[in-house]
Amino acid sequence: MQITRDEDAGTITWSTANAETAALLARLGENLTPGAHLDYHGRTTDPSDANALRLHFKAGDVELNLVGTDVRDKNLIGSIRDICFYGSGLTYVGAGEVASGLSLIFTCGTCKLCGRQVATYRAATSEVCDTCAEQCEHVFEESMGQSQGRPAMLPFCLKCRVADPEWQPDADPMVDMARVVSDGPVTMLFIEHGDGTGTMIKKK
Ligand SMILES: [Zn+2]
Ligand SMILES: [Zn+2]
Repeated sequence: MQITRDEDAGTITWSTANAETAALLARLGENLTPGAHLDYHGRTTDPSDANALRLHFKAGDVELNLVGTDVRDKNLIGSIRDICFYGSGLTYVGAGEVASGLSLIFTCGTCKLCGRQVATYRAATSEVCDTCAEQCEHVFEESMGQSQGRPAMLPFCLKCRVADPEWQPDADPMVDMARVVSDGPVTMLFIEHGDGTGTMIKKK
């Protein structure tokens, strides 16, 4: 299966050149109407690769698992997983045609300011598209993120979740994870995104 993300169109498209998978996709599509939410049934680790994710989806009686097969796939699959877990998941847009045959097109929500479809973790969780984020009068507040591949406190906009472009890492951006995790009655979850950034989410 090929999974592609079109950030401008705000879509994630599933397609395949494999006849068996194409039949499964067609059956999945038959159980979805445009605007329907695709049920996400969690993730497991791929038995053949502890670093690969296996995501479980269901529509009607059709079950489909997405597995990250290489680093790029894994990152996109990791991003889809984060969008399903922290955002509003995948919404079916409709069937499309690609060179290999049928494709299923999903979006990850709409911008609350202009109504455009969105398909990235930042846009899906803030419900602000890239265009509106560019025009946002940012209000930055420090929260857990990632700098140079390490957890760090850095300013994100409260409205659109864009990281402050003027922010400069400290000489040592490393944050004491243990201290942060034990600071108050919240659990901190560190989320790594496919584009190399990350976000720390507080959960009560
Ligand atoms: Zn917008
Ligand atoms: Zn902003």
